[in-house]
Amino acid sequence: MILTINCGSSSLKYQLYTTDLSEVVAKGLIARIGEDGSYSDHKAGGRGEKVELPVPDHKTALELMLASLMHADYGVIDCPAAITAIGHRAVHGGDVFVDSVVVDDAVMAQLRACVGFAPLHNPCNIAGIEAAMRLFPGVPNIVVFDTAFHQTVPPEAHVYALPYALYAKSGIRKYGFHGTSCRYVSQATADLLNWPIEDMKMVICHLGNGVTLTAVDGGRSVDTSIGFGTFGGVPMGTRSGDFDPSIIFHLVNQLGMSLKDVETLCYHKSGLLGVSGVSNDMREVTTRAADGDERCRLAVEIFVYQIKKTIGAYAAAMNGLDALVFTAGIGENSAEIRTRICSGLGFLGVRIDEATNEVARDGYPNISAADASVATLVVPTDEERMIAMDTLRLTPDHLLTTPRGVSARGYEQARPL
Ligand code: ADP
Repeated sequence: MILTINCGSSSLKYQLYTTDLSEVVAKGLIARIGEDGSYSDHKAGGRGEKVELPVPDHKTALELMLASLMHADYGVIDCPAAITAIGHRAVHGGDVFVDSVVVDDAVMAQLRACVGFAPLHNPCNIAGIEAAMRLFPGVPNIVVFDTAFHQTVPPEAHVYALPYALYAKSGIRKYGFHGTSCRYVSQATADLLNWPIEDMKMVICHLGNGVTLTAVDGGRSVDTSIGFGTFGGVPMGTRSGDFDPSIIFHLVNQLGMSLKDVETLCYHKSGLLGVSGVSNDMREVTTRAADGDERCRLAVEIFVYQIKKTIGAYAAAMNGLDALVFTAGIGENSAEIRTRICSGLGFLGVRIDEATNEVARDGYPNISAADASVATLVVPTDEERMIAMDTLRLTPDHLLTTPRGVSARGYEQARPL
């Protein structure tokens, strides 16, 4: 069985797949780690339970996960050795990791060296790997980096026009995020259209709480909207996206804000929330905008405008566009936002069928109008499956051929969730 682990700053998400990845046999969320009101929510084949309990750290969270997986009533394994391999999501791999890797001492040392790039996230990822190594002795751990897919972005797109030494000596450059989602969705798009990915130019719009647009040419990321940290690019739920950096000096020097306050403002008080003044949730902002709230209307307009502009820029960067793809919470669920982004992109050949757009998702991914020259699709992302696929790819063959079904309670012939 393949286990995926996604340690966020205050949460742990996990999924357990059969080794052929045909079924998810268990999944869970442990939320509010290190905070009041922490809880564990575990599901397995229609069973499981949600319990409130103290979860002081990620180590405890992994112990709870293992206890749920081995639970007497709703557990799906009898011992940790039933797990063939574990895949971990890591947010930042610097410019060292261009692909997923099997964890060893050198990888752990390099992960620690990247902590400065993602101080909120990488320490949690490291804590998760360390706990997994202890709880699942002898089971290989694979790390899948959000930044790895964007390591193909060429220098003219990833080097900032700052003194070159900052790039060469201090690693100041565009890294990009949501690479795992983007890689999954771009391959799924090529599969859905039955086109060789090598011949396709796509823009992937990952529109969730975090927003990333990526230009994918021939299956390789050639530009992406988020840059060095995680608030650049286009506006997000609470993050600003790009703005003139001189504003930061003005906030500090003229308005007397501390740098810490400016950081909080850019990451947590901007974007949809900052402009609307009411919410970072697109559902609420669009509903209020429809009811006549001017600031909500403006927040949506800014969101749509910046995305539309970036799609045009990426079509120019790639000298063409074959597919425009929407994914993640907003991209998959909001027909209104898709319509607004696509309107005005007719000059590129983007035209959508409104009726299909309204019902778009798994069953109707292709929302292009008959006369469109660009295929527009809605493709649900599945970062966990991409992590599981990489984990399977990097697991040594001899571990995959050893029968392990005895300790997996027969779940290798699993029931779907
Ligand atoms: P995260 O980046 O946290 O994984 P998600 O991909 O879950 O985020 O996306 C969260 C966003 O998706 C929120 O802004 C939410 O309002 C939006 N969203 C979810 N469902 C809908 C919907 N039906 N219409 C509009 N927005 C939606």
